[in-house]
Amino acid sequence: HAKDSAPGVSRFFESRMSRDALALMQIQSRLRQALAQEKFILHFQPQIDVIANKVVGFEALVRWIDENGELVPPGSFIAAAEESGLIVPLGKWVLGEACRQGREWLDAGLPQFSVAVNMSAQQFKHGGILETVAEVLTSTGFPAGLLELELTESILLQDTELVMQTLGELKLMGVKLSIDDFGTGYSSLSYLKRLAVDKLKIDQSFVRDLGESADDSAIVRAIIQLGHTLQLSVIAEGVETDRQLAFLRSFGCNQAQGYLFSRPLPAEDIPDYVLQRASVS
Ligand code: C2E
Ligand code: MG
Ligand code: MG
Ligand code: MG
Repeated sequence: HAKDSAPGVSRFFESRMSRDALALMQIQSRLRQALAQEKFILHFQPQIDVIANKVVGFEALVRWIDENGELVPPGSFIAAAEESGLIVPLGKWVLGEACRQGREWLDAGLPQFSVAVNMSAQQFKHGGILETVAEVLTSTGFPAGLLELELTESILLQDTELVMQTLGELKLMGVKLSIDDFGTGYSSLSYLKRLAVDKLKIDQSFVRDLGESADDSAIVRAIIQLGHTLQLSVIAEGVETDRQLAFLRSFGCNQAQGYLFSRPLPAEDIPDYVLQRASVS
């Protein structure tokens, strides 16, 4: 056994494992406290119709306000939240806050924007997602047709029967569904025609070298064609340059999202952003 022949190595791994486990427990207890104190905030990134050149919606992206008041990006804590199950209550908070904010914009007289919310696999597995969505729509008064749930391919891959049924019921409620980071998962394309999704989000890794890499350009073009053949709308993520936008336009991509238009913004900056865009175009 490795343990007998190399005790030093084994001890090294054990102590490293416990260090990782300890770090995970610490971040989880901080997250639990943050959740109780609502120390999270949503930023919103505009989604642009590339033909009309108009804002059509916003993606809600969560940030953690840590003990020093710093904003921690989701890449640093979503995995820990998923591992601890905290993603279920956190996801519920995100959904509620996004819909509350969307309703507030409607009440303030802004145009009808869709609001997109990222979903974790756990919310679908045992998170009571149907009840949560119904409850949030009722309590906030946000129209179901303006809510879009962003699913990952990992959600679509688990327990197909249950997921298909859940997605079908969400569709019946009028909620829109999109597939996030499309092209990066291990999914079979056959689910696309069986699932009631409305939109594909082309992952930013394919958009980055658009126009520079012939392969990436071909992939982006193929995803757009696939989406349109299945009567889905297609949005490109991570659009940073006019050159990328020009390629997306020429390929018939419907929408774009990225730093070219705006970084994710705090909710209070959205009305000004919308006004400014309306006055320049
Ligand atoms: P995502 O859903 O694919 O969101 C896009 C990410 O790309 C966001 O990072 C956004 O700020 C960033 N981004 C947008 N435009 C550009 C661009 O032009 N260039 C580059 N380089 N990046 C751009 P963010 O906010 O750090 O979120 C990272 C990921 O965390 C999200 O990826 C999503 O998977 C996850 N996430 C965020 N909020 C939530 C949430 O409420 N629930 C769950 N389950 N996951 C979330
Ligand atoms: Mg997303
Ligand atoms: Mg994405
Ligand atoms: Mg992504």
